[in-house]
Amino acid sequence: MKADVLIVGGGLMGCATAIELARKGKSVTVFEKDVPGRHASGNNSGGVRCQGRDLREIPFAVESRKMWDLHPKTVSSDCGFYVSPRLRLAENDAEMEVLVKRQEKLNSLGYTHEVVVDLNEVRRLSPNVADHVVGGLVCYTDGLANPMLTSKAYAAAAGREGVQILTRTRVVEVQTMSWGFKLRTADGKVYEGETLINATGAWSGRFSEMLGDPLPVFSAAPTMMVTDRMADMMNGTSLGLTGRLLGLMAAQNGTIIVGGGYRSPHDLEKEKIWIDPMQMTKASKIMIEVLPGLKDAQMIRCWAAFEGCLADKVPIVGSSKQVPGLFHVCGFSAHGFQLAPIMGRVMSQIVLGQQPDFPLDDFRPDRFEQKVK
Ligand SMILES: Cc1cc2nc3c(=O)[nH]c(=O)nc-3n(C[C@H](O)[C@H](O)[C@H](O)COP(=O)(O)OP(=O)(O)OC[C@H]3O[C@@H](n4cnc5c(N)ncnc54)[C@H](O)[C@@H]3O)c2cc1C
Repeated sequence: MKADVLIVGGGLMGCATAIELARKGKSVTVFEKDVPGRHASGNNSGGVRCQGRDLREIPFAVESRKMWDLHPKTVSSDCGFYVSPRLRLAENDAEMEVLVKRQEKLNSLGYTHEVVVDLNEVRRLSPNVADHVVGGLVCYTDGLANPMLTSKAYAAAAGREGVQILTRTRVVEVQTMSWGFKLRTADGKVYEGETLINATGAWSGRFSEMLGDPLPVFSAAPTMMVTDRMADMMNGTSLGLTGRLLGLMAAQNGTIIVGGGYRSPHDLEKEKIWIDPMQMTKASKIMIEVLPGLKDAQMIRCWAAFEGCLADKVPIVGSSKQVPGLFHVCGFSAHGFQLAPIMGRVMSQIVLGQQPDFPLDDFRPDRFEQKVK
């Protein structure tokens, strides 16, 4: 069985890349050991956020945000997207200074999406924040979407473009040939293709070893909670902090998704995560300090999912220096959901030998070479 491009991993990165390549005339097969959206792509907190991103990601995030508005056309679904401004709060003057500097830096680079706001605007956006808050930085165009709906929409769109998505099909062996790659799946079948894309999320570290191009991607299990319906509390605005870990996302049904950097112990091999109650307690405590009205909130659910992370917290996107024909798109370090549309586009460009819309130098796979050896 043959295709021009073999993509391992049917999450959003794999499917977004598959859609773009198929639209540009390539035959594509996607291998997914479970089902599309089973892992990070379908189980994240749905934040479509430009706010607070690493400077290296900003051109990508700003373009990706535009692509989110085009989803009804590009993947025949709005992916459940709605605008929920993301307001990063300053809890003291020193933090306010950090936010002012951040805006100055962004403006000097030509970006205007994050705006410093005074206490009046903070209270207009989020009337229930605690009295000690002094100001904030807001991205008015940030929003939230439905991760499972998005994952299903991308997989369905890929299917409509003629992409073959093999679900419950684990790639267990890869052979590099003079003409490309031979992949063997757990059911013993063999597939051939000229180009291979590693989009295996949390499994990218070990999968890249199998490919002879080891990457320092490590797995983590970001962990989230959801409150019961607290409709009046968020006023449609999602919150983050400057000096402490917390993200509060205003779901449309009135519940609040709580997270923002909390992680649980896990075993990637066995695909098990043990939610850490101490982490959840810590997040809840900060949540009440920031929004005192949430002291009566009930936590109705918590969950975690596997994610591939890198020490410098930006992804690996590019071609392998070791193995010709091999490309990686992984290590999104718990903020790849928003970036999926643009990553699909730039991946297709580099696979086809075109100039990517934005330079990918900061995401080079070999930037860690010294550390890997
Ligand atoms: C709890 C949580 C909250 C998050 N919140 C946000 C957020 O609010 N905003 C944001 O922008 N980002 C967020 N993220 C990050 C975002 O979800 C991820 O960066 C993004 O979904 C990564 O997509 P992916 O396709 O690389 O990975 P995945 O969706 O994990 O896809 C990789 C796929 O590869 C498959 N695979 C692995 N090995 C093999 C193999 N050998 N053979 C076949 N298939 C294989 C896996 O089964 C998996 O489905 C969050 C992540 C988590 C976990």
